Amino acid sequence: MSDETPICSAKGCRTAAVWVLAWNNPKVHTPERRKTWLACEEHREHLSQFLGVRGFLKDVVRFEEWRAAEEAGA
Ligand SMILES: [Zn+2]
Repeated sequence: MSDETPICSAKGCRTAAVWVLAWNNPKVHTPERRKTWLACEEHREHLSQFLGVRGFLKDVVRFEEWRAAEEAGA
């Protein structure tokens, strides 16, 4: 069982996450690889920007959709 409430990845934030930010650092990851950060409504913008300016951000998806897609693709 791993249905713990997902928590936002922003520093110091303990809010439940609603978004998944999928990213990839081409210097250390193969192109298909996806790292994920979780974000609450408040920090989605901030975290997206952080990854966006570095050119790492690939996708921003609702947590439910991300999980559904993962289960479907597993
Ligand atoms: Zn947050």
